[in-house]
Amino acid sequence: MSPGKAEPGTGASERDEVLADLLAHGRFLGTLSSVGVAWPPAGVEAATGAPAVSQRPEDPEKALQAVREEMGDCRRCRLASGRKTIVFGQGNPRAELMFIGEAPGAEEDEQGLAFVGRAGQLLTDIIEKGLRMRRADVWIGNILKCRPPQNRNPEPDEVIACQPFLEAQIRAIRPRVLVGLGKFGAHWLLKTAEPITRLRGRVGEYEGIPVMPTYHPAYLLRNPAGKKDVWEDMKVVLRLLGRPVPGE
Ligand code: SF4
Repeated sequence: MSPGKAEPGTGASERDEVLADLLAHGRFLGTLSSVGVAWPPAGVEAATGAPAVSQRPEDPEKALQAVREEMGDCRRCRLASGRKTIVFGQGNPRAELMFIGEAPGAEEDEQGLAFVGRAGQLLTDIIEKGLRMRRADVWIGNILKCRPPQNRNPEPDEVIACQPFLEAQIRAIRPRVLVGLGKFGAHWLLKTAEPITRLRGRVGEYEGIPVMPTYHPAYLLRNPAGKKDVWEDMKVVLRLLGRPVPGE
């Protein structure tokens, strides 16, 4: 059943609705398949035998659009009831570098954009002043697409409900390097529960893509001393991308 629909009953109009959902989902699968993106992605791969893809699809824009259409007015978890907007993530569909954070905050929820506000500005500085890339050339997104109330931590069932979307986004963009921001971004990508203080700076892997876990910009706003560690992590990211490291 598509997101946003109530549990179907047995009436004729409800059966029509279910049929329409199935047809829409079939079109979504067809679109993903035509652009080389496997669905369902990693989380349900074992059950379906869907293979992981190791190359960027021919048309990442179309693949991302298909993910957005499948998301629709998603109500797969309780966060739907408190959000103002779905924050899909934004940037270059052909980005070499993808940043994954935790969830939208108040400003993101208002604007429908990931990483705006003070933490977003700091991320922009990391990208533009540190990495010397344009923010528009990378992809920035979150595990959860809807804001948790009072910015509380994501609940496991919310992460499970939302993760097929992020898995499909990563498969659509297929960046050369992923950066996990903060413990939630790092834990999701690396499938570990190790503290971020131990993870950061060590390159891991997600479906064959190198992953750099590092501190979340919101943490850096409270703990500016962590910026030097993040800069060390970003130097590794530049090396992984084959880009020049300032000062080397
Ligand atoms: S957080 Fe994800 S799964 Fe939950 S309602 Fe929003 S888009 Fe759907």
